[in-house]
Amino acid sequence: MSPLKSARRWRATLVTAVAAATLGIGTALTAPATAAGPPAAQTAVVAPQESDATAAAPQAPADAATTADWNPPAHLVQPLDEVWRHVEQTYGNLYGFRNYGWDQLMANGGGHLNYCVRWESGAPVSAQLRDQVHRVLQEQSDKWYDRMRGFDGFPQARVQINVVGWATANRSTFQWDDDSVDLYIGNLDGAGAPQCAPECGRFFNQDGNYTRCPGGAARHYDQSLWLTDGFGGGAGGDWGQRIGREYFVGALNQPDIHILLHEIGHTLGLDDFYDWTPTGVPNFLMKAGTATQVTEFDVWMARDFWRHMKYRYDL
Ligand SMILES: [Zn+2]
Repeated sequence: MSPLKSARRWRATLVTAVAAATLGIGTALTAPATAAGPPAAQTAVVAPQESDATAAAPQAPADAATTADWNPPAHLVQPLDEVWRHVEQTYGNLYGFRNYGWDQLMANGGGHLNYCVRWESGAPVSAQLRDQVHRVLQEQSDKWYDRMRGFDGFPQARVQINVVGWATANRSTFQWDDDSVDLYIGNLDGAGAPQCAPECGRFFNQDGNYTRCPGGAARHYDQSLWLTDGFGGGAGGDWGQRIGREYFVGALNQPDIHILLHEIGHTLGLDDFYDWTPTGVPNFLMKAGTATQVTEFDVWMARDFWRHMKYRYDL
């Protein structure tokens, strides 16, 4: 199933929303939050970004991108350069935005990301399925983060994926009694979709203050894996990834769950390629519908994003 059609629709919605808010921040990141997110989420995220937007957009330090480990294959040098120039020209707040997946990871010390699973479905979840979802989320995340390991200051250790909470409408949907994850039952966003407590979410607390989260910082979540019945295609951003519940469950045994992988790419700041193609690289994951795996070009785009942002971190 191709994410292309739905993704296009999502992008169109996004452009309108972003223009209205005059946020001028990266489209790939704000799109889903604005298009699919709850009103509460919009409020929470708009405030800090609008204040950013009123000030002069931060610029990258002259030496932001080092060349320490920058040795892409020769045939990828030009297209990578084209992509980065395009990003600089089209992301209004590229260097001021502070909630890329990279920022979330490094705020945790570089070793882990915490997830909430939003189960927007009445289909029952056994303890076995719950644990399988966690395993698969780790495996799919590895396909990006393992390729970053040790690159230009990126942490050497595996990025561990923790699932700290599950949210759904009715308790009876979750068929387990243990307390291995926090449960959020009937906690709905403005559009009626179950979510974990905003008090515990990075998206809503970008200052990293989780004092209002019952479990404190240890039980906070950085991203949501939002699984919705009948949802076609996908959406991804700093808040996490949203894909169809049926698609995801049906793909649990596949080596590459490509829509999820694509949306994780957005969480890492990568863009869509609806209307142009980098020179000589027609097929790659972030160009929806042309690849079903994280390709070498996708990996180098992620590395390029990291090397342009890593000056923020105390490496
Ligand atoms: Zn996309």
